[in-house]
Amino acid sequence: MNNKTILIVDDTISNLDILMELLDEYDLIDATNGKDALEILSTEHIDLILLDIMMPEMDGYEVCSRIKSQDDTKNIPIIFITAKTDEESISKAYDVGGSDYIRKPFFPKELFARIKKELRLEEVISELKYLSVIDPLTKLYNRRFFIDSSKTVLELAKRERTPLSLMMIDIDKFKNVNDTYGHQVGDEVLKLLAKIMKSRQRKSDMSCRYGGEEFVVLLPNTSIEEAESVAEELRESVEQSHFELSMKESVKFTISIGLSTVQLENEGSIEKVLKRADDALYEAKESGRNRVQVKIK
Ligand code: GH3
Ligand code: MG
Ligand code: MG
Repeated sequence: MNNKTILIVDDTISNLDILMELLDEYDLIDATNGKDALEILSTEHIDLILLDIMMPEMDGYEVCSRIKSQDDTKNIPIIFITAKTDEESISKAYDVGGSDYIRKPFFPKELFARIKKELRLEEVISELKYLSVIDPLTKLYNRRFFIDSSKTVLELAKRERTPLSLMMIDIDKFKNVNDTYGHQVGDEVLKLLAKIMKSRQRKSDMSCRYGGEEFVVLLPNTSIEEAESVAEELRESVEQSHFELSMKESVKFTISIGLSTVQLENEGSIEKVLKRADDALYEAKESGRNRVQVKIK
């Protein structure tokens, strides 16, 4: 059974019946007009749409344009299925954002192939999107994602006047881990730290790998005092953990954390907060490592 969901929109019931029967390997939802189709799209997750063009009230082009103008539906592929075969109609289908076009009567195998192609393309796009924001080693967000989304998070905090704190984490003497046990074990330690971070983070926290052995966590709705206890607990949890090399040998490591928070009144960008957290991290290192340091201003 295929768990992809296809929305079929056609005002002719017999057409719907044929398609519903042909495509029964998919989860199917049907609609007999554009208005119902748009309503379904606002509540259901749809992977692909088969859309008729000639329908009373709202025609398929209009339905397609509306779907393509909404952020949450614009990426859903739309295949037009229609009896219209003139050049103008076909080119308009693509102009309004359709991905493909099939003429009625259609060959079932051709329809299957086109549906599969669109769904596969969607998978590839999602995979690429995932790869562009996720660090492959730790599976945390990457620096690029952090830079992009921190702007939105900062704006939201300022608008809603909620505290936003940031912690910068760096593994202590990580070079020694690599030098002693090799780069591969170093990688495992990075993965372990990411796992600990993930297991401790709250839903709204955003953990990112900022650079080699440096991580940043954005803590929305978190005062500096709360952030300090979050950081202290993380530091302790890392101190108590170890990466098991063998039955007898394990690698222990610690982290230092620099903390800062957004000054809601006069913070123009996240860079300044980042800089203060980085300064605090530097102080944590200077004063002996394996500790949390705060810098508010
Ligand atoms: P400090 O306590 O001052 O932070 O000392 P440190 O040794 O952790 O800092 P330093 O910046 O001197 O060294 C960081 C090391 O992290 C050097 C680099 O080879 C290693 N590193 C960076 N990225 C990776 C990675 O992806 N995998 C592994 N195994 N090592 C990495
Ligand atoms: Mg029709
Ligand atoms: Mg380090």
